[in-house]
Amino acid sequence: MKQYKYFKGGVKVPHYKNSENAETKIMPIPDIIEIPMLHHIGAPCVPLVKVGDYVMVGQKIGDSDKFISSPVHTGVSGTVKKISSVLFPNGMNVQSVVIETDKKQEIHPDVKPPVIESREDFIKAIRESGLVGLGGAGFPTNVKLNPPPGKTVDYLLINGAECEPYITSDYRETIENSWNIISGINIIMEYLEIDKVIIGVEDNKPVSVDVLTDIAKTSDKIDIMSLKSKYPQGAEKMLIYALTGRIVPAGKLPLDVGVIVLNVASVSFIAEYIKTGMPLTKKRITIDGGAVNTPSNIEVFVGTYIKEAIQFSGGFKEVPKKILMGGPMMGVSQFNLDSPILKQNNAILAFNEKQSILPEQTPCIKCGRCVRACPMNLMPVYFDIYHQYKDVEQLEKLDIMSCIECGSCSFVCPANRYLVQSIRNGKALVKAGGSKK
Ligand code: SF4
Ligand code: SF4
Repeated sequence: MKQYKYFKGGVKVPHYKNSENAETKIMPIPDIIEIPMLHHIGAPCVPLVKVGDYVMVGQKIGDSDKFISSPVHTGVSGTVKKISSVLFPNGMNVQSVVIETDKKQEIHPDVKPPVIESREDFIKAIRESGLVGLGGAGFPTNVKLNPPPGKTVDYLLINGAECEPYITSDYRETIENSWNIISGINIIMEYLEIDKVIIGVEDNKPVSVDVLTDIAKTSDKIDIMSLKSKYPQGAEKMLIYALTGRIVPAGKLPLDVGVIVLNVASVSFIAEYIKTGMPLTKKRITIDGGAVNTPSNIEVFVGTYIKEAIQFSGGFKEVPKKILMGGPMMGVSQFNLDSPILKQNNAILAFNEKQSILPEQTPCIKCGRCVRACPMNLMPVYFDIYHQYKDVEQLEKLDIMSCIECGSCSFVCPANRYLVQSIRNGKALVKAGGSKK
């Protein structure tokens, strides 16, 4: 097993992996699902179906002709009841297709294993599969796998770090679908002609490390690295440094340093898709938090409402005061239990009153802990100050746009400054352009 490198900064977070031994339960088909036309970074899709249409399992129901986009499919058969819209927590209104399911689960005739004879066929097939980064980022995978001319990729890195507290969906993937992970890696190596692969898993998941080490012995090109449990070990730039020693410069992408990073669930899906031709319509998610009865891992159809997923996993034991899509460090607060689950969601956390108390901010004591914790070598304390003055010039000068919003700075701040919120506001000011002073 290779040795990893330490990235600078980061924080020790509690693990709370309460659902790690919870085998994935398959949720039955809901009566209604609502599939948004956007599950990724990039352009939203346009619905390809209309009210009254009968849809079949695996049918493409939305697509876009923009470069950074990914089509959307239905995992259920039934009738389109409504073309509606979903309000995302960031204020964006996204079109959605509401389907009343008939539970017959008739498979669409287009669902068949893709015929792949070249690298181009492979990238095209991945686009048609609707795959986006399943680790939470949601970047269209076909774009990630397709380096622009002149860029050479020599490393494929597989992200099994899953460094946020509570979430265990990737961990369960490595236990329940380990052969699919290796098979997906072999497929990518073949079509992209990459011959160096490293799987990175945090050392708080020894079973994962053992299982993957065992099956990786089938190839002398695949290495496993057991990484120190330190947040945000699974962030792309930190993982690349830990596994290869390469540094992705500010404003650059992994491709710029010859690396492609994919999540374990994404490579596992690729193996399944190449075998069956069934596009991405289901997702394993962790359900946890102090307000739920049973920490679980469940497989749901994309578009299932949050409240139904929680109900299936055992329901609430307390009134939830905060619902997060994703982990407690980077997850997005939901204001509505009727929001549908997206492709890139890996967890729904429902916190009780005690867990949801937002501590009061007090004045900064200039302790510098936020600076020491920042894995991107940034100065969060100054983002907090300059965003209050709306000083766009200083925010830009201090490189606010390189912040990965990992939350390490807020986590360590003894004054409970809402640093990530200040940073998000600061970034919005920079994007809007021009100093407001
Ligand atoms: S400034 Fe950004 S990257 Fe640095 S610790 Fe804070 S949230 Fe993370
Ligand atoms: S950690 Fe909090 S109190 Fe300390 S310098 Fe940063 S913002 Fe100020």
